[in-house]
Amino acid sequence: MDDSSSLFPHDLPDQFGARFGRPPEVIASAPGRVNLIGEHTDYNEGFVLPVAIDRRTWVAMAAREDGRLHFRSETTNEDVEIGLQDADHHRRKGWSSYPAGIVALLRQQGVPVGGMDVLISSTVPLGTGLSSSAALEVSMATGTLALAGSSLPSQELVRLCQRAEWDWAGVQCGIMDQTIAVSGKSRAALLIDCRTLDTETVPLDPSLQLVVCDTGMPRTLATSEYNKRRGECDQAVRELGRHAAGLTSLRDVTQEQLSLFGRHLSETPLRRARHVVTENERVLQAVDALWLRDHRSLGKLLGASHASLRDDYQVSCAELDVMVAICQSVPGVCGARMTGAGFGGCALALATPGAVGALTEAVMSRYPQHTGRTPSVVTCTVGDGTRAVRVG
Ligand code: ADP
Ligand code: MG
Repeated sequence: MDDSSSLFPHDLPDQFGARFGRPPEVIASAPGRVNLIGEHTDYNEGFVLPVAIDRRTWVAMAAREDGRLHFRSETTNEDVEIGLQDADHHRRKGWSSYPAGIVALLRQQGVPVGGMDVLISSTVPLGTGLSSSAALEVSMATGTLALAGSSLPSQELVRLCQRAEWDWAGVQCGIMDQTIAVSGKSRAALLIDCRTLDTETVPLDPSLQLVVCDTGMPRTLATSEYNKRRGECDQAVRELGRHAAGLTSLRDVTQEQLSLFGRHLSETPLRRARHVVTENERVLQAVDALWLRDHRSLGKLLGASHASLRDDYQVSCAELDVMVAICQSVPGVCGARMTGAGFGGCALALATPGAVGALTEAVMSRYPQHTGRTPSVVTCTVGDGTRAVRVG
């Protein structure tokens, strides 16, 4: 636990005081994230390369004696109060299910969590793919542990937060968002091996601006098509497994095997497999490019990732393609690609600081002309992982 009080917004203790009539005891926070590269690789036990961003969710908290939990979100301007025992059953109840799930799961682990007042404040936009949900879970878990004078190993903390999202919020997310929110390092991206959950920090030029451009497209197809892609990947593994022994996921498939045995695959599974196999390769090449500060190669890899998601994985859409093309056309932008599950959502562009103004202008003026939709642009830089400060 850190003891520096410069690590949180200076008005947070006052906000807590105004709400609860006393100072907070602990302030914890966790970052949102963007994934540089490695899309649809997580559930194929492959590699992802996310970055913690400088937008965070903060929780200020203090214990209370009466066994009640009061959650206050400054973001949504809502209050929810429940008893400690109620946290177990406080599921699928909107935003307050996330902190309730964390409390319930920590108690199940034997952490001595009592009643508390919790004030939540965030600079991560909600529901746009920057993972405000993991930032909320992880900041809540880190703060609650600190208040209880307890701790958990990182991987257990990650699993616990993921469980809260599955069982309390009802969202079957992967492991990337919680891992980067826990283990993100400033000035670094995090290579995550989704098979072993091993991580490796990779230095990232801190001047690189991460520009997230929202297409404003509702992601209506995302869930059904996502499930379909998962099935097609399983089919590819089964079909390839008849020719190459020992395959349990596309992670095990090499480019060489794919060119040798690809002709035995049906067309759709072959395309899906080709995306996953080449995307895993691109993630590892992106790691090399980051070590070498080779922005040109990094940009090319981002472009190739987008093309593969569009042509082989077939999860892009006209709006995302237009957005990526606009980003790529702006001088000073190193590269761009769609990010997230696809069928709408956001594109990510990596830009030099001097290019952000022109990029924003290009997106705001040209994207609506081509699509009739209103975009939004969020610019961030690299942040770091979760932390807690005792203030009272
Ligand atoms: P993303 O993680 O990409 O932002 P999600 O749909 O997974 O999108 O998570 C967004 C949800 O998380 C919100 O609808 C809300 O229920 C909850 N949430 C996240 N941050 C906050 C916050 N600061 N205050 C209240 N609810 C929040
Ligand atoms: Mg989320």
